Parts: sequence; structure tokens; C-alpha cells
Amino acid sequence: MKRIAILGSTGSIGTQTLEVVRENGDIEVLGLAAGSNITLLEEQIRQFHPRLAAVWSEEKAIELRTRIADTDTKVVSGMDGLIEVSILKDTEILVTAIVGMIGIRPTIEAIKAGKDIALANKETLVTAGHIIMPLAAEKNVSILPVDSEHSAIFQSLQGNEHKAIHKILLTASGGPFRGRTEEELLDIKVEDALKHPNWSMGQKITIDSSTMVNKGLEVIEAKWLFQVDVDQVQVIVQPQSIIHSMVEYVDGAIMAELGTPDMKLPIQYALYYPHRRYLPGERLDFYSLGRLEFEKPDMRTFYGLALAYEAGRAGGTLPTVFNAANELAVSQFLNRQIKYLEIMEIIEDCMQAHKNIENPTLQQILDTEAATYERINSRR
Ligand code: NAD
Ligand code: MG
Repeated sequence: MKRIAILGSTGSIGTQTLEVVRENGDIEVLGLAAGSNITLLEEQIRQFHPRLAAVWSEEKAIELRTRIADTDTKVVSGMDGLIEVSILKDTEILVTAIVGMIGIRPTIEAIKAGKDIALANKETLVTAGHIIMPLAAEKNVSILPVDSEHSAIFQSLQGNEHKAIHKILLTASGGPFRGRTEEELLDIKVEDALKHPNWSMGQKITIDSSTMVNKGLEVIEAKWLFQVDVDQVQVIVQPQSIIHSMVEYVDGAIMAELGTPDMKLPIQYALYYPHRRYLPGERLDFYSLGRLEFEKPDMRTFYGLALAYEAGRAGGTLPTVFNAANELAVSQFLNRQIKYLEIMEIIEDCMQAHKNIENPTLQQILDTEAATYERINSRR
């Protein structure tokens, strides 16, 4: 039996991880953590019998404790609770499916405790990759990518030497607004931005996909996971999301992973790496597919992607500013407090105002996050 814990078990990746667990039948779930959906968390506790469950607010934790008083699951709360789930004795893998840079501290603590990380939580690597990757190497811990593109790259790297990598070809669907001009983005409503053409995901990443900021985060994520320069990562729009990403080697050979869009594949691959398991679901049929299309991304209209390259190249605290500004701007957009294009304006403004700190400590990253929020909140 493999033993795991999941941060963000009630979300899109979290629930699909539990489906993979259910379908395989040989993984034990020792810990679950969620934000506020205690109804779903209660169902998960009754089905998977974890030793420990964490909820963000103590108020909800109290309610959950009453609801599951007949079970053996202990309920904890807050950051301490998240960390307790992350370092649970006996777990081999922590699945980080929480959204946002709140995942940094639990991820670091899990690595220190020797847990392998199945990483979906890209914001953590974007902001603290320079701390996480060396720490993982020191602790002999694997960081297994769950993000579909990074899983595809990871799969395309198997059996090849790192020094033979020439380029990473990171594919993007282009999102629901591909081909639109800036003018055509002026009046985008929350409902429009939440319609992704190929993937069904959490709200934050769905908005990020529409602005291409998600692809920008993924460029920086790839830099850390695969130890390449951001300028070795080329974004290619592949609207059908069939090619999940590729690696170009020094001899010109290109390796890719293709398939129907289904997050269960990268989740399962991370959980069982290096083994492959049967996965039910729709298979790619090239006869009915007919053709694949490719485009260059429009980095002038979707300049959040260009800003990500700038942040990734500079390193230091600039990627934290890029990420934190986006996190708050997206939540303000979802709350209908700002207009769609203001998301990118806010990121640019915060980045321009920032004085970069090289090789920041965890505290400096968290301070930069707070300062970025403060700047945005004092905008009006
Ligand atoms: P989601 O919004 O569906 O789920 C987020 C989860 O995190 C929920 O369980 C929520 O309860 C939990 N959470 C949020 N704040 C919390 C807090 N303070 N304490 C404890 N738990 C908290 O998000 P998602 O789409 O599943 O994405 C999760 C992560 O995976 C993100 O970093 C995203 O970029 C990445 N990712 C997602 C997909 C996808 O298909 N959904 C694909 C690639 C990468
Ligand atoms: Mg992705």
C-alpha cells in the first residue's frame, strides 16, 4: 500500500486524485486538507478514513468535529493544521492540490520531513523554487509534476540526459479569448472568462488560463522543475490541447506526450512513477482527430505572459510580485471589483514599483506578498 496525504482535497485536482485512489484501490489516504467545503470533506472522510483532516478556519473545524464525532479522524485547523497534514508520519507522498502561494510553508515542511511531493500547486514553485528545489535535492525528495504540461515534459525526458535538452516546448490552448484584440477584451464578464475550451478546473486557474498568466506561471514552474533558463522555454499555442508539451533535444529530435485532456493521467503518473497503470477513459483517435493546429502566442494582447518571462528572467522576489498581484487581482475580478483587463494592469504596476531582492528568504517572500497586496488594496 502506498500512503499519501492531499492538500486541497475538495478542489478539482484533489477530487480527481481521490478518484484515482478509488479506481486503483492500493493507496491509503492518511491526511486531507481543505479550505471551507466541510460537507464534501465529511464525505471524503467517511469514504477514505484518514487519520487527520485539516480545515482552514477554526470555526469550520469545530463544526466538522461535531459532524464526524463518530469517526476516528482528528480535525485540525489553520496553517498549523495544514503543516500537520503535510508531515504526517508514514505518508510517502504529499499531493499539493491547494491553490495559491499559501502552499509554500506546508510544502517546505513536507520536504524537510522527507515526503515526495506530487506538485499541482504551481504558485509555490513560482515564488519559492530557489528554496524548494535545492531543499528537495538535499533531502533526496522527488518533486513529481502534476500540471499536465510539466507531466508531459517529465514523461518526454525519461531515458534522456539533461544536458541534451535544447528547448522545452510548452503548449497552451490559448484559452477562450484566443485571437481577440485588446478592445474585444474590455467588457469580459466573469462568466465568459470561466468558460475554458478544453479543461474543467478550479476558478482561479481558469481565469489564469484565459489571461495566459497561467502559461506564464508554467514557464517559471518549468524553469525550476527542469533546471532550464526561461528563454529555453518556448510557448506554442496548440488549441486542441492534444499535445500536452514537448522537449526538443540538441540533435533536433522532439519528444512529446499526447492524449485526450484528462488530469487523471498526470495525477496517476505522479503517484505511481515510474510505473504506468491502466487508466479508463476516452482514448485519442487520430482518424477522427484529422489535424492538429499550432500558433504563436499573442504576447502583446496577453502581456501577462511577457511579464512572466520578465519575472522569471529576473528571479528574486519579482516572480512573487507577479504571482501575488495576480492572485489578488483574480480574486477581485471574480468578486466583480475590477474589470478583466485590470488584472494585467495590476500585475504590471506592482512589478514596475518593486525593488527586486535577490535570493530571498521565505520571510522576504511572504513580506513581498504582503507588500504587493497592500499596494493593490490602496489603489482606490
Ligand atoms: P480548486 O480551487 O478547485 O481547489 C483548491 C483546493 O484548495 C480546494 O480543496 C480548497 O478547499 C483548497 N484550499 C484553498 N485555500 C485553502 C486554505 N487556505 N487552506 C486549505 N485548503 C485550501 O483548484 P484546482 O483547480 O484544483 O487547482 C489547485 C492547484 O493545482 C492550483 O495551484 C492550480 O494552478 C493547479 N493545477 C490545477 C489544474 C486543474 O486541472 N484543476 C491543472 C494544473 C494545475
Ligand atoms: Mg497546466
